[in-house]
Amino acid sequence: MNIVILGAPGAGKGMISDYLIKNYGFLQISTGNILRENVAGRTELGIIAQKYMNRGELVPDDLVIGMLKNVVLGTKAEFIFDGFPRTLNQALALDDICKIDLVLFVDVQKDVVIKRALGRRVCAKCQRTYKIANYKKSICEDCGGELIQRADDTEEVIEKRFETFYKQTASLKDFYQNKNILKVINNSNSIEETYENVAKAVEDFRRKQ
Ligand code: AMP
Repeated sequence: MNIVILGAPGAGKGMISDYLIKNYGFLQISTGNILRENVAGRTELGIIAQKYMNRGELVPDDLVIGMLKNVVLGTKAEFIFDGFPRTLNQALALDDICKIDLVLFVDVQKDVVIKRALGRRVCAKCQRTYKIANYKKSICEDCGGELIQRADDTEEVIEKRFETFYKQTASLKDFYQNKNILKVINNSNSIEETYENVAKAVEDFRRKQ
């Protein structure tokens, strides 16, 4: 079973991926994380991608699709695609790479997202995310890496990322709705409620197999 997680920036895609990894053993592919690793490693891809990311724009399709193929092809696992696809071209490319069984569209109000993103820190080494309200230290408890604010987690860039999301990604909701594999997950309330709805969506799918 392969799952796509769609949602506005800061909607909680990473948090839902973590839940699915822990409880169901999926392999997460976060294009945002892979791109940030490339930026940190100053690879050729990272140097190009950084310009787009810092402006809150999408990295060009050919680069992201090529990067994803490198990771997925030849790996045998049940995948969670977190932050991919973000354009119709990417969605069509993904259909050629593997069969998508379930798409979780994480729905959340914009003001909630801005508040969450501004209160988020990420480990510069392993990418684990922390809420500053729950975790006061400046070092990652898993790997000891430094916790930093993402360069694109400022209010100005978040606004831009929202605009990008509505212009280029939100229409994928209809794309997957038409395939009858879309499930909307409201993530404006409690985490417990979100997890319960995610678990139900996965288990409903598995029961039907
Ligand atoms: P994320 O961590 O998923 O919020 O992604 C952070 C940034 O990485 C986005 O704002 C984009 O600039 C870039 N990015 C991540 N995934 C993609 C994708 N599938 N297509 C294009 N750009 C992406």
